[in-house]
Amino acid sequence: MKGALTWKRIVAKYPVSMKIPLFFFSVLLGILPIYIQDRTMRRSFQQTQIDGRVIEVQNQCLITSDRLARAGYLSADMKDALLDKELDTIADIFNGRIVIVDQNFRIIKDTFKLLEGRFHVSEPVLKCFRGENSTVYENEKHYFALTTPIYSNDQEKGVQGVLLMTVSTENILSNVDRVEEKSSFFVMIASIVIILIAFLFIFVLMKPFARLQKVLDRVADGNLDEGISVNTYKETSLLSGALQSTITKLKEVDQSREEFVANVSHELKTPITSIRVLADSLMGMDPAPVELYQEFMTDISDEIDRESKIIDDLLSMVKMGKAAAELNVAQVGINALVQQILKRLRPIAQKRNVELVFESIRDVVADVDETKLSLAINNLVENAIKYNVENGWVRVVLDADHKFFYVKVADSGIGIPEDYQERVFERFYRVDKARSRETGGTGLGLSITRSVILMHHGAIRLLSKEGEGSTFTVRIPLNYIS
Ligand code: ADP
Repeated sequence: MKGALTWKRIVAKYPVSMKIPLFFFSVLLGILPIYIQDRTMRRSFQQTQIDGRVIEVQNQCLITSDRLARAGYLSADMKDALLDKELDTIADIFNGRIVIVDQNFRIIKDTFKLLEGRFHVSEPVLKCFRGENSTVYENEKHYFALTTPIYSNDQEKGVQGVLLMTVSTENILSNVDRVEEKSSFFVMIASIVIILIAFLFIFVLMKPFARLQKVLDRVADGNLDEGISVNTYKETSLLSGALQSTITKLKEVDQSREEFVANVSHELKTPITSIRVLADSLMGMDPAPVELYQEFMTDISDEIDRESKIIDDLLSMVKMGKAAAELNVAQVGINALVQQILKRLRPIAQKRNVELVFESIRDVVADVDETKLSLAINNLVENAIKYNVENGWVRVVLDADHKFFYVKVADSGIGIPEDYQERVFERFYRVDKARSRETGGTGLGLSITRSVILMHHGAIRLLSKEGEGSTFTVRIPLNYIS
């Protein structure tokens, strides 16, 4: 576990190119089977050669022992010189040594002329006197030894002696070595070819990634209009798609930031321009009547209120834009919260002769940020009053199920045309600028409301018909999930 962690840390610190493991893997995959096959072939070739030679020598031994038996080699007083010579020749042909042991374990013939007259008692010789042939292969010492019984002409007398033949495998091994040299050369050439193919394979395989890297470098240099589409593989295609949509989003953010700055400047400038026009006209009138002064000063004061409202809304919006971690979540009684909002707004409603009704279907306690949620619901109810008709009504309904609570703000107002329903949540967006100005709207209220609801992992839905009224429904989870 600890080792894995250290390895991960090393890899994170010194990232290796994907090409390296890929190269080793492909080389291993190519070379390993060739190497294994070569080793197996060498071993089986050597074994076949030795087995072949053993069979050859066995046959020769059987023929020779038969010949010796028939010639009565063991019982004769004088050794047959011709047969003797023949034994020497056979030993030479097979690059070996022939030793013949009689019934008394005495060596009566040794083609090396070293042990004649000595005794030879060994396991294979003893076995052979019992009629069993044996073959012993001494791998380390590079020879094999064969024992063949020499039977008497007289069937009853049985085994008369043993023909012991040792044959060197040196010449076989040197033949095998020569073949091995050739096959090693072949393995080397094959390995070089495989390495070259692996290089080529990785180069071709990684080419689309290199292309993607180049495009991304250009994007990093600020070339946001660069189209990213490397569709050679599914992987590069998916990666290109994801990067392209990230860049598109970045562009949108950039554009909306520019639009926002332009809108803010414009909104802040409008009241100032009005104030300037009012002040200039006053100064231009010499002398102006006091009533006109009072009227213009009231207008100037209204414009200052408006400017201050825009600044307040902007500040609220900046606050809402901050991380959701800054939410001050606590258990809040939503019924009391809504009632408090309605109490505050009742005078405005009365002024416009709008009936304000609260319908609480059940008591709701939820994890919310009280201040922010108050602001959000306040905006909805205030809009419902502002964009209403004379003698109209506003109905606020609070309901809940086991997971969410719902606040429905319905009004009998002017409604929002379908084409604008999505846009009213945008910053500074107003359906009817003149009317919104009249009612002191900044176009930021619904945008703030939506941010607050999203921070609570909730949702807002709008149903409206022009001239018939609007219904905003807010859905927020009862338990806040951070
Ligand atoms: P504002 O400060 O202008 O009220 P909002 O963001 O609160 O800004 O609302 C944006 C626009 O949506 C308003 O200017 C108005 O045109 C429209 N709107 C909002 N609520 C209602 C409503 N209840 N009925 C009709 N129109 C509405």
